[in-house]
Amino acid sequence: MGVEPRPLEFVSPTSAEQLRKCGLALAFRRDLRFSPAERPTPGAALGTVAHAVLELVGTGAVDDVPEDGLRGRLEELWATEVAKRSVEFETAESLTAPPPPEEWPRYFLVRSRVIRRAADIATRRRVPARNGPSTDGLKVAVEGELRAGGGLLRGRPDRVETSSDGIVVVDLKTGALDDDVKPEHRRQLLFYAALVQRDRGVWPTRAAIEGVDGRRRSIDVDPGEAEAVVDEALALLRRFNEATADGTTDGLAAPSADSCRFCAFAGACPAFLGAVDPSWDMPGVAFSGLVDSVSSHDGVGVVTVSGTTGAVQGGTARLLGVPAPLLPSLGSWVSVVRAVTTAGQRDFRSRWETQLWLWDEPSDHS
Ligand code: SF4
Repeated sequence: MGVEPRPLEFVSPTSAEQLRKCGLALAFRRDLRFSPAERPTPGAALGTVAHAVLELVGTGAVDDVPEDGLRGRLEELWATEVAKRSVEFETAESLTAPPPPEEWPRYFLVRSRVIRRAADIATRRRVPARNGPSTDGLKVAVEGELRAGGGLLRGRPDRVETSSDGIVVVDLKTGALDDDVKPEHRRQLLFYAALVQRDRGVWPTRAAIEGVDGRRRSIDVDPGEAEAVVDEALALLRRFNEATADGTTDGLAAPSADSCRFCAFAGACPAFLGAVDPSWDMPGVAFSGLVDSVSSHDGVGVVTVSGTTGAVQGGTARLLGVPAPLLPSLGSWVSVVRAVTTAGQRDFRSRWETQLWLWDEPSDHS
């Protein structure tokens, strides 16, 4: 089944990085037949929760909460946002039950840092008014979506700060930050800086990523470098839409351990299944082949796949722990992605991230 994405109407700092990494992954995401495979992930969910809590607090959600009730209110806000994300996990189709939030990697660390940071923001807000000047003349704005280039360039910086030293664009990050700004973060910051320049007519002087602990890594904004980032993003947008129009999205594939590691569409991606090998540092194992036998007991089944390709080359492999209603029929073709190794060399177990794709024809997946 070929990928038939909807064309892109615009490019953002995030989608530009996706296009740079692998345009085919974005093509899958923009094809409604494949997009449901994109399940929520604990890392992304934590990021969304952290952003939501910090934004709520930054825009006054706890301004009227007394000091002695602040911590409790922030914990409630956190719990509410986590509950919203948890619903997405529970409604997504999976081979296993979703991990409870407390088992999301870094859950307690991020929670504690976000609540501490939110308390700090709330305390500082008790003096200045919303988006108003603080004692050092700093103005902080939470922007809506910024558009430029006739709507082809869009993005929403987390924060834009203005002081006598100029404008600073800030992007919040939940993951662990390196000491230096990574190239992909640098490009995103410069893209936001260009959007702010189009909006306000002035270039930001600096741009920064900020961790949930409030620490920043900053860069100077070089307008020439920022324009080059925007030009490249527009070129990537054009290339994607040309491939969409002429049905050559396969040519956008850029399989690599780095690109494919967390890709939701790996099990449907011929480029990935043709390139993956055991040396790739992937979370779990990927293989494909013909369903040779299925069995089940107490509602849980085992699928035996023969003629395997991918990370399990040749012979058979078994996927354990498949819910009986999701067992494939004999003779169908399957791709298994992110299965967990077991003591048995060719036995693999399902977990939340594991995907089982079914195909009518081998040409669909090999
Ligand atoms: S599996 Fe890899 S090559 Fe295939 S779409 Fe995803 S990122 Fe691209």
